[in-house]
Formats: sequence, structure tokens, C-alpha cells
Amino acid sequence: MYDIKSKKAEEFIDDDEIQKTILYARQNKSNKENIQAILKKAKEYKGLSHREAAVLLECDLDEENQKIFKLAKDIKQKFYGNRIVMFAPLYLSNYCVNGCLYCPYHYKNKNIMRKKLTREDIIKEVTALQDMGHKRLAIESGEDPVNNPIEYILDCIKTIYSVKHKNGSIRRVNVNIAATTVENYRKLKEAGIGTYILFQETYNKKAYEKLHPTGPKSNYAYHTEAMDRAMEGGIDDVGVGVLFGLNMYRYDFVGLLMHAEHLETTMGVGPHTISVPRIRPADDINPDDFSNAVPDEIFEKIVAVLRIAVPYTGMIISTRESQKTRERVLELGISQISGGSKTSVGGYAEEEKEEDNSSQFEVEDRRTLDEVVNWLLKLGYIPSFCTACYREGRTGDRFMSLVKAGQIANCCQPNALMTLKEYLMDYASEDTRKKGDEIIENEISNIVSDMVREIAVKNIAEIEKGERDFRF
Ligand code: SF4
Ligand code: SF4
Repeated sequence: MYDIKSKKAEEFIDDDEIQKTILYARQNKSNKENIQAILKKAKEYKGLSHREAAVLLECDLDEENQKIFKLAKDIKQKFYGNRIVMFAPLYLSNYCVNGCLYCPYHYKNKNIMRKKLTREDIIKEVTALQDMGHKRLAIESGEDPVNNPIEYILDCIKTIYSVKHKNGSIRRVNVNIAATTVENYRKLKEAGIGTYILFQETYNKKAYEKLHPTGPKSNYAYHTEAMDRAMEGGIDDVGVGVLFGLNMYRYDFVGLLMHAEHLETTMGVGPHTISVPRIRPADDINPDDFSNAVPDEIFEKIVAVLRIAVPYTGMIISTRESQKTRERVLELGISQISGGSKTSVGGYAEEEKEEDNSSQFEVEDRRTLDEVVNWLLKLGYIPSFCTACYREGRTGDRFMSLVKAGQIANCCQPNALMTLKEYLMDYASEDTRKKGDEIIENEISNIVSDMVREIAVKNIAEIEKGERDFRF
């Protein structure tokens, strides 16, 4: 039975409630009065319930759909402004004991080369990432208690933070590793991580069990309850997501929102981020084997309705998506993107040889970070290398209350401009530098507070003289 406050996965992600929600949404897809009432509520910028959001996703009225997209854009602008936060994934190890059917790292795959970064490898990788201009990483690793125990992950984090190459430094390490114990989450917290990210893949228990036939990840409840344990272990910011294409998107869309509602109700704070990956080709994996492919128009609508339903949650898109798709969803709600990504183990320091074949999936957007930054500037966004919040203790409910009060933009805007200036000084091509300086000049006047604006102007002048790492 559905119980949002329950600690049991099958109760806070109740199958019956999801089925009823899908049915309710279908029955209301042309109900103009209901859809307009939901949109009216959404305009208060306080979010929507999973049932209301499901109706908007299903809505088949053209005029109302236009309003949905318009509202998503307005919310994006109100809460996040023009800044787009940049990050890169760093693959530590592709050893894995799980049998996930959609991932080439599954233990039965003998085609890929198994690799695990040593301390020296990490120093090389992080140096290469710093030379690109990255300040924020998401570390990724397969699950393998022998090859990648928690001590290995903790050592990697320590090494990453220790590398200081020229003006570079990694200032925030987000962690995407398998579901683990409260005790291990506590250790990650002590290691100074930013967000703990774990994708549910699918919320449908039956589909989940089919897709995860063997290994510790096959335990649906242990996986689904991971965020509760992470928060119990003291991690304030957690990032959720599903792999669209594995299962019916309607089901996972509703499950995702129910998960967010559960965390907000029981832990006092909802997810910090939502990621929206779609399944991609990879070694030993054929996306056609998964018959739930999500077409672009539906994918765009998913992003727009998520933006409306959880306005306080950052949304992330990776280089799995093409430039065209990324461009479209940026305006509808995405606030964080990766750039210049390599999805192989050790791919930054050295281009991987074809025969090594250690990557997790094919990247669609293969541009360099500078090309991505240049493109964002051309579109009028401010590429931001900001990592300020968790370093200033703005995490969990402290962070959420600032976002809900519409005040986080007061930090995001100046931080985006200052960190962009650092990027332009240290790493950008000439054309990117020119475009970036123009944006900084135009956008600085949009900082609302006189005091903050004056400090930002002063700091940018200091950055020009060689100082680094200012933040609000
Ligand atoms: Fe291992 Fe994760 Fe791939 Fe599953 S998705 S095989 S757990 S790396
Ligand atoms: Fe993110 Fe906080 Fe920086 Fe804004 S100020 S970009 S919310 S880290």
C-alpha cells in the first residue's frame, strides 16, 4: 500500500499508486479545466504532485502544451537565470560484479578491457581535466568489493582533491557509486563529497529485477532505499535519475517524482539534482533490445514537466545527447551539463586505443570543453564553473530554503561570472575569451544587489591580475 513516509521501497514507490496515476493522467489528458487548474497551481512556483505532473505529461491539447513549455522556460529563468554549470565524469574503474543487461561493464562481458585507475593514473587524469578547465567532477565506478572497495573510492577522492596543477584545482567531487551502507555513506561525507548520485534505472520492480538478474544490484529494495541511507549517513545532497528507454517512460517519470516526494517528506529535503539519461549504444548492448525508446518530443516534454514539478531541483544532461537535443532542453529546464567528456577509464590523459574498449557508452556530443563553452556563450548562457555552495555550507535544507526563496540566483550569477572569468584567463581559445568577456560585461549589471555587484567587479579585476577562487 502507498505510504510516502514508509522506509520500505515497495511502499513509497507503490506499483498500484503508479498504475492509478497513469490511468488518471490518461483520463485527464484532454480535460482542459483540470489542466488549466494544474497550470495555475504550477505558476505559484511551488511544484506539483506526481499525479498533477503526470496529467501535464499526458496532456494532448496543443494550446495547453505551449503553456507548459512556456512555464518551464519561465521557471528555469526565475530560479536558475542564464548560468549553466559545467562538469565532467571521471571513470575510476570498470570492474563490476553486477549483471545489468544495459551496461557493457556487466561481469559477463569479455570484450572490454577491465581497468582501474592507480593513484598515478588519477593524477594524470585530473591534471588533464584541470588543463581543460574543469573544476567539478562526477566520479563513476562499477561495483566490485574486491577491486573497488570503499577505501579505494575514498583514496581516489583524496587524490583528486590534492592535485593542484598550474591554476587548476578540482573543487567539488560528486560521487556516483553503487548503493552502499550508512557507514560507507558517512565515510563519503567525511571525504568532502558534493552530491551522492545514484540512478534508479527503473522504478518498476518487475522490470528492474529482469534487467538486474545477478549481483548485489539485483536487490530492488536495497537499491531504491539507498538515498534514505545516504541521508542518514549525513549526505545532504543526493542526485536521482532513471535511464529512460529501459522501461515505460510514464512509469519511471511518476516513480521519479514519488521518490522526490518521499525524500522531501521523510528527510526534509528533496533531491538536489535529477539526471535524465537516455539509453545509448555500447559494447555488447543494443538499444533496440529495449523497446521503450523515448522519442525527442517526449523527452523534451519530460524535461519541461520535471522543471515545473520540482522547480528547486537542478537538472543534468550528459554528452549522451546530441548538441541539438542539448540545445533544446537547456531552455526547458536543464541547469547542469557535462562537456568534453570521456566515458572510458583513463580517457582524459590519453586517447583510448580502439582495442582497449573500456567505455561505458557512446558519447553523442564529442565537442571539446572549449567548443561547448563557446557554443553556450553564443546561445546567451553563462557557462559556470562554480562550486561554491557546498564549500560555503549551503547544502541540504539550507540550500533548498534559499532556492525556494528565489535567492540562490544572487549567488549563482556573480559566481558564474567570476568562475567564467577564471576559465577565460586560464584555458579558453581566443574566440571563446572574446565572447566570454562580452557576456561578463553585459551580465554584470544584472546582479541585483549593489554590494554584491561591486564585490564581483572588484574580484573580476583581481582575477585578471592572477588571483583565483573567489566565491559568494
Ligand atoms: Fe556495473 Fe553499474 Fe554497469 Fe550495472 S550499470 S554493470 S552496476 S557499472
Ligand atoms: Fe550551484 Fe551554488 Fe554555485 Fe549556484 S552558487 S551555481 S547553486 S554551487
